[in-house]
Amino acid sequence: MSYVITPPAIVALPVAGGGQFPVHRIYCVGRNYVEHAQEMGFTGREPPFFFMKPADAVVPVPEGETGSIEYPSLTANLHHEIELVVAIGVGGRDIAAANARRHIWGYAVGLDMTRRDIQGEMKKLGRPWCIGKAFEQSAPIGPVVPLAKTGVLTSGPITLSVNGVQRQKGDLKELIWNVDEIIQEVSKAWTLAPGDLIFTGTPAGVAAVVRGDVMEGRVEGVGTLRVAVR
Ligand code: MN
Repeated sequence: MSYVITPPAIVALPVAGGGQFPVHRIYCVGRNYVEHAQEMGFTGREPPFFFMKPADAVVPVPEGETGSIEYPSLTANLHHEIELVVAIGVGGRDIAAANARRHIWGYAVGLDMTRRDIQGEMKKLGRPWCIGKAFEQSAPIGPVVPLAKTGVLTSGPITLSVNGVQRQKGDLKELIWNVDEIIQEVSKAWTLAPGDLIFTGTPAGVAAVVRGDVMEGRVEGVGTLRVAVR
């Protein structure tokens, strides 16, 4: 095959224990913890909804290292959202929640970085969120930990601190739509493929970061993700 331009590189995340997980698509769930839904002005269990980020928004952060993102353009209110990320190993469509687990390859800790000011403006205007969510370096993610190592995760603390001060705190058991249900719902709308990542939503406490801040996110059983804003 002779490409007329250089094909883009394959985006990949390091895997705990060795190897690389190639990234296909990135799906993200909105407002999936009650207290976060409340802080965004909503209540209750609304049907799950999704947005996407491009694969090349990923900033892979190897275990034990501090990743780095550049403060993006067009915002004065860059928010952190710490999330459990599910890595899909087996694709499919119309996957029943009861069968969802066999599609999970592993988990990672990720940050859904958000231009909150622009996202808010787009919401008000009824326009797409892309500019608020799907920009470059908007998805720093730590190593993928195989399901074989973690077991199925349904509870455990998820936290984020900035410069050593805790900002976000929740527990995976507080997910409004659990991981199995999320896989079911995503696969109704899109055909899941090996390499897909799903951001499962963020607990309460989202807030802004500025240049020089260091974020440290943690999901018990998965690991720690440290990212500096430059
Ligand atoms: Mn999010």
